[in-house]
Formats: sequence, C-alpha cells, structure tokens
Amino acid sequence: MAEKTSKKEKAPRNPMPEQAPEVRRRNFDEVPLGYSRDAAVAEAQRCMQCKKPACVNGCPVGVDIPGFVKLIAEENFDEAIRKIWTQNSLPAVCGRVCPQEIQCEGECILGKKGEPLAIGNLERFVADYERTRGSGELPPVPEPTGRKVAVIGSGPSGLTVAGDLLMKGHDVTLFEAFHKTGGVLVYGIPEFRLPKEIVASEIHSLERMGLKIDCDAVVGKTVTLDELFEDGFDAVYIGVGAGLPKFLNIPGENLINIYSANEYLTRANLMKGYRFPEYDTPLAKGRNVVVLGAGNVAMDSARTAMRLGAEKVRIVYRRSRDEMPARAAEIHHAEEEGIEMYLLTNPVRFIGDDNGRVCSMECVQMELGEPDESGRRRPIPIEGSEFTLDCDLAVVAVGAGANPVLTQSDPEIALTKRGYIQADEETGKTTKPGVWAGGDIVTGQATVILAMGAGRTAADSIHKYLTWGW
Ligand code: FAD
Ligand code: SF4
Repeated sequence: MAEKTSKKEKAPRNPMPEQAPEVRRRNFDEVPLGYSRDAAVAEAQRCMQCKKPACVNGCPVGVDIPGFVKLIAEENFDEAIRKIWTQNSLPAVCGRVCPQEIQCEGECILGKKGEPLAIGNLERFVADYERTRGSGELPPVPEPTGRKVAVIGSGPSGLTVAGDLLMKGHDVTLFEAFHKTGGVLVYGIPEFRLPKEIVASEIHSLERMGLKIDCDAVVGKTVTLDELFEDGFDAVYIGVGAGLPKFLNIPGENLINIYSANEYLTRANLMKGYRFPEYDTPLAKGRNVVVLGAGNVAMDSARTAMRLGAEKVRIVYRRSRDEMPARAAEIHHAEEEGIEMYLLTNPVRFIGDDNGRVCSMECVQMELGEPDESGRRRPIPIEGSEFTLDCDLAVVAVGAGANPVLTQSDPEIALTKRGYIQADEETGKTTKPGVWAGGDIVTGQATVILAMGAGRTAADSIHKYLTWGW
C-alpha cells in the first residue's frame, strides 16, 4: 500500500492540451482544449481517495471530490456528473474559472510532495462529456408547490438559487436587466476562457426544468420589489452583482479611447464586438494598449485587446508580481501571449492629442512599504521617477462597486457603508421581509463559486420560508 501511495504522489499531473500562444493570441477560441477520455481516467487514477479529503475542505460548496473522481477512474461518467450536480449546478463553468489553485487543489494532499490532482480539469471533462455525449437526462422535478419566487439577476448566484428552488417544486422567474442571461459569465469573462455556448446550455437545462426568464427587466426601474409581491411572488432573491466600474480619478481620464474594463469587455463579449463586421458594435481597436490593474478582469481585458489586433499590450500595476490578484494561470497565459507587465508603476495622468484622443500616459515608479489595511504592502511613489508610456487605448480595470439601481429603489433594504446589501451570513435574509440577497452584491466582487455558495444558502432559507414561514 505504501509503495502504491508513493507512486501516485510521484506520478506527474496529466497536462491540459492548449492552443499554442502564437495562434491563440489572434483568435477567440477557447485556450485549453480539454482532457481526452484516456487523460481524464489516468488523471483520476492519481487520486489517493483520502479518508479525510482535504480537497473538499477547500471547496466552498463541498463537492464530493474523491467520490466523483473515483467514478471517472471507473469510466462511469454519467454517475460522476450526477454526483457533482448534487452540490454544484454549474460544473462546466466552475471547472474552467474557479481558482482551484487556492481552493480544492491548494489543499490536495498530492500537492505536498508533488503536483496536486487536476480537480478542475476533471470537473470540466465530465461536465463537457455529459453535455456533448451524455444522456441529456435532467434530475426529476417534484410536484409543483404553487409558491412563486422572483430571482433578480442571472449571474451564478441567481442561477444557483433558481436551480435549487426548481428542484424543490417552486415556480421560479428570473429577471435580468440585459437582453441575455448569464451575468458576468457572459458579459465579463471572455469567450476564450468560457465559451458562451456552455453558459447557454446550463441555462437551457434550467428552462427545461421550468424556469421562466424575463430579460430587459431592470428591477428598481421597470418594476419595484413591492410590485413583484403585488404580482403574486411569495419571495424575492437579489443577485444583481457588483457591476459599477471604479475609476482612477486622475487627470485626462475622460479622453476618447479610455474605457472601463466593464464597458470594454461588455462591448467585446455580449455585444460581440470581436465579430466585426458581422456585428457592428462600436469598439475602438487600439494598436498600443495599456490596461490598468492586475486582477482577472485586467488579464481578460489585455488578452481581449491582443485578440482584437493590438501590436503591444501592457499591464500597468502599482504593486509587485506577488500582490497581483489574478489567477496564476491567467497571468501565465497572458505572458505567453506576449502581454508585458509594467509592475511597481502607477499612472499619474493621461495625455491627449489635438482630437481629444488618449496618446500617452504619465506614470511614476513605486516601491513597497509597510502592509496596509488589506494586508498587502503599501505602494509608495519614488520621487523623480516619472516617465511616459505611449498608448492609443487604455482600459481601467481597478475594481467595481455595487450597482445602486435596485438597492436605492427600496429604503427597506439596508446597505453597508460601501453600498452593498446587508444580508445574514447564515441565511442570506435582508432587512426586508421576504427578500434575500447574495453573491457580489453582498460581498463585493468575489468569485463564481462563492456567489453560487451564497445562492445555495439563500435557496435553503427561501425553501424553509415557503414551507414554514419567515
Ligand atoms: P453577476 O455575475 O454580476 O450577475 C448579476 C446579474 O444581475 C447581471 O446579469 C446583471 O445584468 C443583473 N442585474 C444587475 N442589476 C439588475 C437589476 N436592477 N435588475 C435585473 N437584473 C440586474 N470569478 C471566478 O471565480 N473566476 C474567474 O476567472 C473570474 N473572472 C472574472 C472576470 C471578469 C472580467 C469579471 C468581471 C469577474 C470575474 N470573476 C471571476 C468574478 C465572478 O464573475 C463574479 O464574482 C460572479 O459572476 C458574481 O456572481 P453574481 O451572480 O453575484 O453576479
Ligand atoms: Fe484525491 Fe487530493 Fe482529495 Fe486526496 S486530497 S481525495 S488525493 S483530490
């Protein structure tokens, strides 16, 4: 047994095949190509089937990882996906975009001496297998309870609430402000990381289970929360995300061709700007692009600019590589695609040409001081180190805040100082009876899986309320 164990620990992780960087930097096709059946089974066989699986502790929704991995090792893919579905309704999405390196894979025992199990790649494999070759069979929906729930926002938290409540027999309607459902999964995360078709297929499954969808419905403007109750809804879940862009507030930020990442990615993704001239979405295509920030949103913006034809794309970040908030894999992919990193560099002002278009950016070099309230070392400008970077397009990706449209439309919903909704951590209940909230509108911009976890908690609580009362 000891010998077997050490062989597994030493066995290298099965690599994920990917499009070559020089090819993919000019197309919007997905970068990782997915495991073959043989590679998935071989990878699953590396799992030690730990009695106390540390990986599960690292998963915010507690997926039975050794359970589904064992089923893949046995080539029982239909059962493997069913096992995941009991805890996670969006496995094809999570397998692609969850930060596994700091969650399940970060805890995996194999990682102590060698490489952790490729849990995300396996989750993706089995979800894709089910979508393309599986039975297409959905879990049975119980008898209708006759209770109606409105879910506002169709991102991962809203979709999770909707899926869980449909599975309890409730009548669920999803209200979405955009013309298309999926939230950040469709308008933020680009096609080359998460193909839209995958999100559409997960949502289609919910529709087959009875979900009603009302797009172009801006709750707080076109309809209020009280009107939803008057219309016969028994409970409401708010999952409207944190889509309000933040800016640098430096001189010149209003010049032409300076975008918020939110606008830039929405035009490129949801409005299909990348398929010009087939789709005539106005979107400036810079040749010399700077992206301000170093999170996933910044990496997505930089990689999108490269695919739209830029000759040079630079990420400008005021801290060092160690503090970059983006996933390690995204930084690695961006660098492979030729994106340059200007670290310890802070923009001071944008400079425009005679036509009011941005043409360069003045920056100052930084050094790191003592840690600030976020625990990260505070960047301090180095006096006299100013320099200028030429650019014809700039994308500001320095975070996002709470969108006030819905939250400010109802004074009974209490907010935090930063404008997020106050919701009970154990239940998701807000201060307005019959109303729950979760995801980024409660936590600030976080992750897909945390938004889903909040949705699951709220769905449990809503179900109890519909069954036994507030
Ligand atoms: P959202 O996904 O924001 O969905 C909210 C929905 O509500 C939207 O569709 C919005 O249009 C709708 N809405 C807003 N107001 C109203 C209204 N008044 N009425 C009706 N509908 C309304 N996380 C990861 O885990 N991994 C990643 O790799 C990753 N990459 C990211 C890349 C980008 C570019 C961005 C922006 C985020 C990324 N994230 C990533 C974060 C993750 O996407 C979010 O944490 C998650 O989507 C939050 O889910 P949500 O359901 O709370 O909100
Ligand atoms: Fe398998 Fe790693 Fe989880 Fe152990 S910790 S059960 S090896 S995935």
